[in-house]
Amino acid sequence: MVIPPYTYLSPTKLDEALDILAQNQSGVMPLAGGTDILVMMKEGRLKPDSLLSLKNIVPLKGIDVEEQEVKIGANTTVGELERSGVMDMNPAFGDLVRQMATRQIRNRATIGGNLCTAAACADFPPVLLVNEATVTIVNKKEERQMSLEKFFTGPRKTALKTGELLLSVHCKRHNPGTAYIKFGVRESANISIVGIACSLEVEDGKVSKIVVASTAASPIPLVIDAVSKVTLGRAPQTKTWEAAAEEVVNALHPISDLRGSLAYRFHLAKVGTLRALDTAYRRLMKNNAVEA
Ligand SMILES: Cc1cc2nc3c(=O)[nH]c(=O)nc-3n(C[C@H](O)[C@H](O)[C@H](O)COP(=O)(O)OP(=O)(O)OC[C@H]3O[C@@H](n4cnc5c(N)ncnc54)[C@H](O)[C@@H]3O)c2cc1C
Repeated sequence: MVIPPYTYLSPTKLDEALDILAQNQSGVMPLAGGTDILVMMKEGRLKPDSLLSLKNIVPLKGIDVEEQEVKIGANTTVGELERSGVMDMNPAFGDLVRQMATRQIRNRATIGGNLCTAAACADFPPVLLVNEATVTIVNKKEERQMSLEKFFTGPRKTALKTGELLLSVHCKRHNPGTAYIKFGVRESANISIVGIACSLEVEDGKVSKIVVASTAASPIPLVIDAVSKVTLGRAPQTKTWEAAAEEVVNALHPISDLRGSLAYRFHLAKVGTLRALDTAYRRLMKNNAVEA
């Protein structure tokens, strides 16, 4: 199928873009890299009257590395993130980027597009969630912030209202004890069958902070809160990771589909949690050894 005709709008100012969105309501859809939206238009799943290109709107671009956090403009591409150095301080981003799509797609696909499509198998949500991400949303009248966890309201549904744009996402900057394990059917250009991200801190030989999040194993990306209850204060070792993996499996609601059955997804979630936590712990130890 070919892409149906549409009007292409290309404002250069954020205000102009927000005016267009406010006036045209649901007939206009924002266009970032187009790697999701154009595919859906080609398949006949979306038929917007107009596409509003975000590419010339400066406030949506760029990565600001601040002391504690990183601010990523919604229209930042995965390729730009890859070249920014953020992954040196936060290795889960490296795991994610290396396994996401192909170089050509990474040079077009944006972080904002990944979050706003809100596909149940998207790779950015779990990595951002374990890094305590918040999002800034803007409309003609105001800006508002919310946790990324609250942003996802259902499969392919977000908290964005008509007339709003995602402006930026903010997350932890330096987080050496992180990892993202993604299972797909191929080595590259892969859609997640299950993805598990984690963030780990250890103090005096005990787990002092832990966050585990999943993708492709529930209708929306999940932070599995129950993991903390069974791991905090315990030694960072296999038995502790096994207790965490059990809680992860209990919390998930995967589906059976072409890429994986229910039982296979539960199995991958367990293996992914064990590998993610083990990897994160090794990275943390290596970082502490370098810093000491
Ligand atoms: C071959 C291929 C491989 C892929 N591999 C992966 C993969 O490994 N992992 C993965 O997670 N995804 C993958 N994807 C999906 C896709 O590339 C990503 O989801 C990408 O990040 C989408 O970003 P985009 O800029 O192309 O979004 P677009 O297609 O431009 O937009 C997506 C949606 O978000 C909305 N939107 C975009 N920006 C904003 C904004 N600032 N405010 C409000 N709404 C906005 C659009 O209106 C649209 O509804 C793949 C896609 C292809 C075609």
